[in-house]
Parts: sequence; C-alpha cells; structure tokens
Amino acid sequence: MKDENHYDALIIGAGPAGSAAAALLAEHGHRALILEREKFPRYHIGESLLPFTFEPLRRLGLIDRMRRSAFVKKYSVQFVSPSGRASQPFYFFNRYDRQTVAQTWQVLRSEFDQMLLDNAREKGALVREETAVTGLIMEGPRVTGARARSADGTEFEFHAPITLDCSGREAYCAVRNQWRVKDPFLNKVAVWTYYEGALRDEGIDAGATTVAYVPEKGWFWYIPQHNDRISVGVVADGKYLTRGGVKASEAIFQREVGQNEWIRRHLAAGRQAGPYYLTSEYTHHSRHCGCDGLLLAGDAFAFLDPVFSSGVMLALKSGVLAADEAHKAIVERDFSAERFAEYARCLREGVENMRRLVYAFYDPKFSFRALTDKHPGAVGAVTDCLSGDVNKDFSELWRQIEEFVPLPSPLPVGAPLVSASLPTPVAAISHPAARSAAPIAADPDGAGIRGQSPIAG
Ligand SMILES: Cc1cc2nc3c(=O)[nH]c(=O)nc-3n(C[C@H](O)[C@H](O)[C@H](O)COP(=O)(O)OP(=O)(O)OC[C@H]3O[C@@H](n4cnc5c(N)ncnc54)[C@H](O)[C@@H]3O)c2cc1C
Repeated sequence: MKDENHYDALIIGAGPAGSAAAALLAEHGHRALILEREKFPRYHIGESLLPFTFEPLRRLGLIDRMRRSAFVKKYSVQFVSPSGRASQPFYFFNRYDRQTVAQTWQVLRSEFDQMLLDNAREKGALVREETAVTGLIMEGPRVTGARARSADGTEFEFHAPITLDCSGREAYCAVRNQWRVKDPFLNKVAVWTYYEGALRDEGIDAGATTVAYVPEKGWFWYIPQHNDRISVGVVADGKYLTRGGVKASEAIFQREVGQNEWIRRHLAAGRQAGPYYLTSEYTHHSRHCGCDGLLLAGDAFAFLDPVFSSGVMLALKSGVLAADEAHKAIVERDFSAERFAEYARCLREGVENMRRLVYAFYDPKFSFRALTDKHPGAVGAVTDCLSGDVNKDFSELWRQIEEFVPLPSPLPVGAPLVSASLPTPVAAISHPAARSAAPIAADPDGAGIRGQSPIAG
C-alpha cells in the first residue's frame, strides 16, 4: 500500500549522514523521507573536512558546488608546539592528486548541512523539518517505521521497510536499545568558541588546520573559516582542564590560550565572538549496526574524537554506504539484519584504524616525529589514515607504532543484531516510555564493553 505515510525508506536526521543517504536513495527513484528535529540552517560543530570526503561528495554531485562556495580551501595541516614553534605545513598534494583529493574545505556547518539537505531535496527526497522521531514501530524484531512529533505537537506515524538512523550523537536507536558502548580510554572534554579578525597565514596556507599542543596531551584546533571567522577549541582530559576547580567554559578556554604562544598571538589580533561551547562524553560505539529493517550511520553508529577531524568523512561515507545497502535491500525485498554484516565490517575497519592512531596520539610516550624519525617509510601510511583513506591494511604501521606504545584491540562491536540468534533488546524500542521526546540519557548501564550482549555472527 502506498499512502502518504508509506515510504521506501525513512531517515532519522538531516546531518551529513542522513542527507547523503536520502539523496542517493531518491536518485535511485525511491520514496525517501527525512525526519529532522531542527529547523535548518542550524548550528553544528565539525567544521574541518578531510581529503577523503572527496569521494562521497563526488557521489553526491557536490564537487562543483563546493568549489563555487565561500568555504575556505584547505591544503594542509600543521602542528605547533606549546612554545609556539610551528612545523612545516603538511601539504596533501605531496601525496594526492592536486585536482581532486589534495584540496578539501573548512566549512560552516549551518551552510554545509543546508547544502547537503537542499541536494537531497533536489534529487527528490522528502523532508520534514521540526519533526522529532519519538519511537520506532516494530513488527516482531523488525523495524517497520517511526513515530514522530512536529513542533506544534502533532503526532505522526510513518511506515517503511527500512529505517536509517542518522541521528548523530543523540544515537537514537543505540541509546534506546542500550547498544551504546563507551570507549575504555577516550572521552575527552572540548571547549570552543569563535574569533573574528584573528591572524591567518598567507596564500595556500590561509586555510590550514593548525593543531597546537598544550601540556598533558591537550591540543587546540585553529580552523580558518570564511567571513573572517576562526573556529578555535581546546580538547584535553576533563581533570586537566578543570584543575584548580575552574569550571566555567570561558575561564577554561582563556586559561589554555595562555598555554600556547602561537594560539595566544594569533587570537590577540582578533576579538572573541559568540558563546563558548563545552561538550564531554562524546566518544561512543554502537554494539550493533542495526537489526531487521534498521541501519545506523554516522555518529549514530560511532564517534571517536575530534582530533583528526574524521567525523564528517565517516558520516558522509557511511551515509553513502547505507544508501547502497538500503537500495539493494529494497530491490531484493529483503531487509534482514544478516545482509548488513559487510556494511558493519567496512565501517568498523575504518573506525578501528582511526581509533588506533587516536590512541597513539594521546599516549604521552608517542610522537609522530619519533615514529617517522625511526621509520621514515611510515609517513605514507600515517598520511593516508589521517587523510581519511581508512579502509586499507595498516598492519606494518601498527607494528612500527607498537615499538613505542601499546595499541588497543578492536572493540568486538558493530555486527548486526540477527533476530533469530539473540534475545531481542530491540523490543525496548516499542516500550511506551521510549516514545517520549525526553532528553536521551548517557549509556544507561555505564558499563561500556563489559556489559555487552553476545555479538551475532
Ligand atoms: C568538539 C567536536 C569537534 C569536532 N570537529 C570535527 C571536525 O573538525 N571535523 C569533522 O569532520 N568532524 C568533527 N566533529 C564530528 C562531527 O561533528 C560529527 O562526526 C558529524 O557532525 C556527524 O554527522 P552525522 O550526520 O552523523 O550527525 P549530525 O551532524 O549530528 O546530524 C544528526 C541530525 O539528527 C537530528 N536528530 C537527532 N535526533 C533526532 C530525532 N529524534 N528526530 C529527528 N532528528 C533528530 C539532529 O537534529 C541533527 O541535525 C567534531 C565533534 C566534536 C564533538
């Protein structure tokens, strides 16, 4: 039956993952509906893109629009010591094709996400903004739709044989199913704000991301944007940032500015603009990538850490892959969880490769300089991983890094929840309490991987 509340696919959330997935499903001729809680354009953090966002942006037909946009072109990354000494900028064109991957962008997410959503609409996706998903509709262990509430309080039911959860760090399905797994080591605190008129370098260095260190493996991001804006934030352990009882975001931020001479000097030329933001406890993984009729993409599946700017790349990439999976499932009329195993394997491989490098970065005994002094050949592999080319064999690199620091084993998570082989925590989704739009609590068992259920497959 095809009435106005029946679709081929539902997509929860219109961030990069959701808009990418919806655009490609619509392009295939499917009736795809995005349910987005906010009214766009809306603010979002996550403003520095990686070179390997090129491929998903190409799939979406957005490269020309990106090139014509006001977004600042990013050719390089540089690292700055606490004393203010900057490394040579690392230029992507030393390794990648100048016409494609070697140049990426620093974006304003309000504008970038609007562009992605407009693109989905232009390709035929249907969009309901200011409509929050409040529950999933189940038939046995299978997700067959979603309940939602619009801003004026009207309740809706939407039906589709497949739902993509692209709800970002809200991780709608993972939270309600208790699939959310904390990372045993990550979970930093980030405090950030914006400056106008602060210093930026000349020419092709004007759009460089700068990573500037503060003590105890803390670091600043310094991201030049258009409209003379700089996005600048500090990330470190909460204990370090709040030492001496300092709790206010502004006080935390301004104290750290004094801990790096380059940051202090660059910001001194400008003026702070807008609020200070603080976030913590953002690292999580989903125990499952989905179940019958449900797939998770983007942050709703996993989010690591801001340090290597991998979030939007992984969101776009997983949005594209999820659309490919959903398309095949619609064509073959088979929405069983088993078929999502390869999707999960591919995403987890990318997340785990990036995760190893993030762990090394935060280990006091590790530095990229010491690694590449000892193993000059490691530069290429490090570059690939940091540029977002994450699905390849990095075993040689891991061996070389383990000469300095231990690396984590992959977390045994991500496989689809196969309904035949496991008790069904998915039933929790249809519990009436899960239908409210109440704020989502953190991992309810707080147990991280210790509390996990057996993994299917
Ligand atoms: C401090 C910090 C700095 C970062 N810096 C970078 C960076 O420089 N580069 C980078 O690539 N990444 C960065 N990231 C990560 C980046 O923000 C995310 O990885 C990225 O936004 C994920 O995209 P997404 O589409 O999965 O989710 P989102 O962009 O979060 O989109 C999810 C959407 O779902 C909607 N939604 C949520 N719940 C519901 C619901 N119940 N019903 C309907 N809609 C709903 C939300 O309103 C939102 O619009 C950073 C993250 C943090 C915390």
